[in-house]
Amino acid sequence: MKVSVDHARCEGHGLCAEQAPGVFSLNDDAELTHHFEGAEIPDEHRTASRAAAGACPVGALRVVS
Ligand code: SF4
Repeated sequence: MKVSVDHARCEGHGLCAEQAPGVFSLNDDAELTHHFEGAEIPDEHRTASRAAAGACPVGALRVVS
């Protein structure tokens, strides 16, 4: 699975980074880094990644099978 991120929609709330800190992080300017952007999410991060996508309040994350 992959998780796509709509950077234009992201508002830097950081809920994704709380749910999946191994996949998402925010810098001091609340800019999101997706550590597996365009790549397969490793097995050990998949459950957390799904939770992160569900937690995003603006729907900026989408799970792609
Ligand atoms: S939870 Fe959504 S809006 Fe917040 S940083 Fe993550 S992708 Fe962006």
